Amino acid sequence: MRELRVAEKNTAYWWEAAPVKPVPRLGLGLATKLDVLIVGAGYAGLSAGLVLARAGRSVAAFDVMNPGEGASSRNGGITSASIRPDFATLSRRFGEDKALAIEAEGKVARDFLYDFIRTEGLECDFQLTGLFRGAVGYEQYGSMARGADALAKKLGVESYAVPHAEQRRYIGTDFYRGGAVRMDIGGLHPAKFHSELLRVALASGVRVHSNTPVISIARDGAGFRVLTTAGTVQARQVLVCTNGYTDGASPYLRRRLVPVRSRMIATEELAPEVMAHLMPKRMMMGEGLQLGFYYRPSPDGKRILLGGATAPA
Ligand SMILES: Cc1cc2nc3c(=O)[nH]c(=O)nc-3n(C[C@H](O)[C@H](O)[C@H](O)COP(=O)(O)OP(=O)(O)OC[C@H]3O[C@@H](n4cnc5c(N)ncnc54)[C@H](O)[C@@H]3O)c2cc1C
Repeated sequence: MRELRVAEKNTAYWWEAAPVKPVPRLGLGLATKLDVLIVGAGYAGLSAGLVLARAGRSVAAFDVMNPGEGASSRNGGITSASIRPDFATLSRRFGEDKALAIEAEGKVARDFLYDFIRTEGLECDFQLTGLFRGAVGYEQYGSMARGADALAKKLGVESYAVPHAEQRRYIGTDFYRGGAVRMDIGGLHPAKFHSELLRVALASGVRVHSNTPVISIARDGAGFRVLTTAGTVQARQVLVCTNGYTDGASPYLRRRLVPVRSRMIATEELAPEVMAHLMPKRMMMGEGLQLGFYYRPSPDGKRILLGGATAPA
């Protein structure tokens, strides 16, 4: 097969349809007293801010970059189920009841997300395509097949094993030794999703300050005194949602977090027959490896986006 060319650009493919940009201030100055100050305006910071604002709290999120410029506009957009270790290993180690309870948590989170997208009318190219995960050996295939069966019988998830002989109906390769499908996972456009989340958060009263780092957080009586580059804010509570970008503003978390680098690439636009051969069902794809690759069609079905953990540059 011919080699797939990677587009020769170094900016996120997702930003072409949904560029990250500063939030206009609209005349709002710095609120010097808040119920909750949030550090980081990615998915975590904004969704927490949205819930708090709708519960009547005064809340502001600060981000050192443009909102979403961290992981939240540059990910695979797979409404993932990447619980590690896998279901079979979890069952062996902790018993099937606990393994199912862990899987059930993932199901609750995905159901919440799908409901949220629907009820808020978020335009983010969400499609419930299903996910195929390839097995890297026949032993792993057996374990995946048992896991798929348990998910179907015990949690009601539409999931099933795909033997090697039927694999090409799902993916244009013989590389995997079969795999498993689960239909409760799909794909969205991560940058559009973030931009839509930002829209509803702002409309609900969350103040968002872009390009405004939080420098330090100090206890002050019953609350906190937070130093930002825009000034000092008193907050009753502080929520730190800084992910792998956690810096000296939160020394406690910084000591406990180990950021892992991860990159994605997008191919050039591919001919429809190539896409149909490689991804006949346009599903999300993953591998049964601890740090395997994941790949997916772009929402318009013209490219493949591929990601995986990489060594530090
Ligand atoms: C390449 C890649 C692919 C991925 N693929 C998937 C996938 O397919 N499916 C999936 O479910 N998940 C995926 N993820 C994970 C997902 O993107 C993250 O879990 C999610 O975006 C985390 O959101 P967050 O709000 O916690 O962090 P982020 O979006 O990273 O936000 C943290 C923010 O904190 C800000 N910040 C840090 N320090 C400060 C400070 N002192 N002051 C102010 N702001 C600060 C940063 O600027 C940043 O914007 C992927 C991640 C990567 C990197």
